[in-house]
Amino acid sequence: MDFIDLKSQYAALRENINARIQQVLDHGQYILGPEVKEMEAALIAYTGARHCISVASGTEALLICLMALDLQPGDEVITSPFTFAATAEMIVLAGGVPVFVDIEPDTANIDATLIEAAITARTRAIMPVSLYGQVADMDAINAIADKHGLAVIEDAAQSFGASYKTRKSCNLSTFGCTSFFPSKPLGCYGDGGAIFTSDDALAQACREVRTHGQSQRYLHTRLGVGGRMDTLQCAVVLGKLDRFEWEIERRLALVEAYKRKLQAAVPGLQLLTVRDDRDCVWAQYTVFVDDREALQARLKAAGIPTAVHYPRPLHHQPAYAKYAQPHDCGHSIRAAQRVMSLPMSADLTDAQQDHVVAALAAAIG
Ligand SMILES: *Cc1c(COP(=O)(O)O)cnc(C)c1O
Repeated sequence: MDFIDLKSQYAALRENINARIQQVLDHGQYILGPEVKEMEAALIAYTGARHCISVASGTEALLICLMALDLQPGDEVITSPFTFAATAEMIVLAGGVPVFVDIEPDTANIDATLIEAAITARTRAIMPVSLYGQVADMDAINAIADKHGLAVIEDAAQSFGASYKTRKSCNLSTFGCTSFFPSKPLGCYGDGGAIFTSDDALAQACREVRTHGQSQRYLHTRLGVGGRMDTLQCAVVLGKLDRFEWEIERRLALVEAYKRKLQAAVPGLQLLTVRDDRDCVWAQYTVFVDDREALQARLKAAGIPTAVHYPRPLHHQPAYAKYAQPHDCGHSIRAAQRVMSLPMSADLTDAQQDHVVAALAAAIG
């Protein structure tokens, strides 16, 4: 069993994806070819954001937004310590200082009620992470940002396709940044990502930063990067889009089934909470367990792959320890000790899921 089954997905979409790739090889416009614009237009229609700027990866998306905001050395960006390293990494790379605010223990997303106390005269932006595919409390976060004149950058690398009230992830704040890393809910066959914004000037700034700060050919008006997403990868995303809504429906059905089966077979197992006003796309199906290492070993012996997202909060990573706050982000520390992700993808079969649940029940015993 694969942790994320990309082979079955390709088998289902083979003709579509192959034809899309062949078209690129035939026209030969490998950089900023027609599929780039076509994908951006399709994702604009999907999210409802006014602009989509495709970029080289989800990591690059975060960096380009921060550069488009003209982040200055020492500027502070409030974020969660319970995330993939790229979130804080790009803040530091852009010259900023990550300010870690703890998570809600039941959703594992940044606790919006703790943000205001972390704002200082140097704060420029808030970067909530839509962890596991569930958006944080964006209305509350946007209200705080408006009051203090801050930008909000949603790290939506795991949440493309998720919804919050009536709107889609990536279209909830100043910027939404997603990733098309192969294992994300919408993945390509390499690295890729996208920035979404409805601010015309910021969209233009992102486009310039994406191509070496060029406002026109060989006129470099600002500092930029080589951050484009290539045409072939956009073609792969387009090849996957036709089935994407089905995949989300299937993920939601699988998660309802996980919940039902786990509650019956492993009573007392703590599951992730999803708030009533949002849908999670479950980039990872993560549960909370004790004695995780032993459990993972038993599951591995039973043929069940598992993963940990993430084993250490960033303020306990050597590279970011100097940004630790006096308060210890205790919920993040405990979540890092207890989270474990189970096999999850739209092509997981009901029989495979039964096998996972039975093995987990036996392993917890
Ligand atoms: C995957 C991920 C990223 C980085 O995306 P890449 O496309 O791999 O660069 C950033 N933040 C989070 C939360 C992620 O899960």
